Amino acid sequence: MSGLNPQQREAIHYLDGPLLVLAGAGSGKTRVITQKIAYLVEDCGFQPRNIAAITFTNKAAKEMQERVGKLLSPAQANQLQISTFHSLGVRILREEAKALGYKPRFSIFDAADCAGILADLAKTVDKATLYRLQAVISNWKNALVSPEAARRLADNEHEVLAAGVYLSYEATLKAYQAVDFDDLIGLPLKLFTEHPAIAEKWQNRLRYLLVDEYQDTNACQYQLLKQLTGLRAQFTAVGDDDQAIYGWRGADIDNLKKLPAEFPKLKVIKLEQNYRSTVRILKAANNVIAHNEKLFDKKLWSELGHGEPIHVARYRDNEDEARAVVMKLQAHRFENRGKFRDYAILYRSNHLARLFETLLRDDRIPYLLSGGQSFFDKAEIKDITSYLRLLANEDDDPAFIRAATTPKRGIGAATLQALGTYAGERHVSLYAAAFEEGFAQRIQARQLEPLLEFCRFIERMQQRAASEPAQQTLPDLLAAIDYETWLYDAEEERTARTRWGNVCEFADWIRRKGEADGKTLIDLVQSIALINMLDKQKDEEYDAVQLSTLHASKGLEYHHVFLVGVEEGILPHRESLDAAKLQEERRLMYVGITRAQYSLHISYCQKRKQGRDLIDCEPSRFIDEMGRDDLRFSGDRDTVPDKATGSARLDAMKAMLAGKR
Ligand code: ATP
Ligand code: MG
Repeated sequence: MSGLNPQQREAIHYLDGPLLVLAGAGSGKTRVITQKIAYLVEDCGFQPRNIAAITFTNKAAKEMQERVGKLLSPAQANQLQISTFHSLGVRILREEAKALGYKPRFSIFDAADCAGILADLAKTVDKATLYRLQAVISNWKNALVSPEAARRLADNEHEVLAAGVYLSYEATLKAYQAVDFDDLIGLPLKLFTEHPAIAEKWQNRLRYLLVDEYQDTNACQYQLLKQLTGLRAQFTAVGDDDQAIYGWRGADIDNLKKLPAEFPKLKVIKLEQNYRSTVRILKAANNVIAHNEKLFDKKLWSELGHGEPIHVARYRDNEDEARAVVMKLQAHRFENRGKFRDYAILYRSNHLARLFETLLRDDRIPYLLSGGQSFFDKAEIKDITSYLRLLANEDDDPAFIRAATTPKRGIGAATLQALGTYAGERHVSLYAAAFEEGFAQRIQARQLEPLLEFCRFIERMQQRAASEPAQQTLPDLLAAIDYETWLYDAEEERTARTRWGNVCEFADWIRRKGEADGKTLIDLVQSIALINMLDKQKDEEYDAVQLSTLHASKGLEYHHVFLVGVEEGILPHRESLDAAKLQEERRLMYVGITRAQYSLHISYCQKRKQGRDLIDCEPSRFIDEMGRDDLRFSGDRDTVPDKATGSARLDAMKAMLAGKR
């Protein structure tokens, strides 16, 4: 308990009822949660398996698990339930699937799988509309709006369309024995509401709940929290209303206001000392957020010294900006003898990362992109791995659906739906159902034939994949399904070429693995998920610059932060200029500033390339709002050398770096 301030200690020791820790950025809220877990186990006799901590991202869950791991023994730490709301939902559902009419090995569909279902249901709509429908349905599900209620509520064109397919969408998921991400919260809630005995069982199992980043919970998560804590209401929630940045995804800041009303015994503790940032950084952050309506009164101060001024740089265009930022970062790291992982480049939208990625790669600077797409998440890789997953486990229904329909081979949605329904009734997988006499009687021979042909193909490949080396099986499989031709038919040539290139890269990876370890395809497939995880684990040790969206940077901290593209239209985003959304944009700026510990570098451009056009840009209003006292401005002329001298200086610096290594 040493190294904690009195308010933190009070929050950790408080066990007399529900507790809300409400405090600004960097005040040690997350630290309270990790220390409280240790306190519950070591001093209060809680069994680790009776404690659940909920974080906002999987990454945060892993980090918390590691932090707690240092405070407890490994055996104890392993029994704790530290996860996101979604993974907790998965755990509950796997165990209780039967009560909801699901099999325990139900599938979890990702956004792309779900878009596929919607595309089948709303055949005539374009892609953009499809995503809108998906968002509308997702928001309804998060706000606990049923398909029936949605029909009544729908009051614009998109909502009417969405309400029209909502019910069939749910039915289709069920027929596939699949759930979407929203169901991972919604279904446990439904389960608890409809089966009080099951709710009670879980309330007894999870006797103490801790929730990080509480300000970004949605209605559904809030209800689940209430169900889980039951009448006992033993929980600690920590949050900061000024960091609520997921309103666009259905998070509801009202959940903060609701707590005192719905839990009259709620105790509120405020933390005021910031342990992360220098005084100047903190002052700038406080100045910005003071422009928002105030929900709760909070103060924040720091003892970490004045620190250097905040650098604000203007650049001619976004290429100059990227070049200068990468160069400054290298110089700064060199002068401070720092590590790459002490640096983060943060931005409002994913597409702003591209230029930085290119330059970092050119300069051989290691970087990690968060919120970006992993290789194994690419559609073409998922297509191919769906075959491989099926070879390893023919009961993997989503893999079955994906493989059976990619490339198209005459197996229609109606056939799959009939198969899904039949399989659900019989409690068997799609693959097994396809061979059953009972199913054959339900559909026409011309529907059945392509299905059986596909299943027999899988069966044949399964036998080969189990016995021969991987490098023989995969090329034959790719040839047999003629994936390359299908790609070129389905996509524009350039896209097809990139995608086929990725498939070849994947095949090559399989070949090398097969040759090196003499493994079969099936051995390898079963390790793909694991390899992915191991890679991610390695990442954390990895000394690399972090490239991240502001949204994904929540809860994290870096010695030095470059906040780029701080322009009107980007931050605040051009589609978020009404009063409510503007406040959320301002909170995003606040989150960005408060990630920095020692130095903060803000930049904006006078012109920015958008498609083929070079558009004029204005500095963000949020820069003015930081107050002038602690900012140091620099224009483009003195900071960005022209290309020739710039790269000469950079070369000199690199030579110097190489010499010192
Ligand atoms: P955010 O709002 O950004 O999520 P937070 O309130 O969760 O921030 P933490 O991440 O828990 O803050 O803490 C910020 C930093 O301050 C961490 O590096 C943490 O280790 C450190 N810290 C927290 N409390 C103390 C303390 N009492 N003494 C020293 N350092 C502390
Ligand atoms: Mg935190």
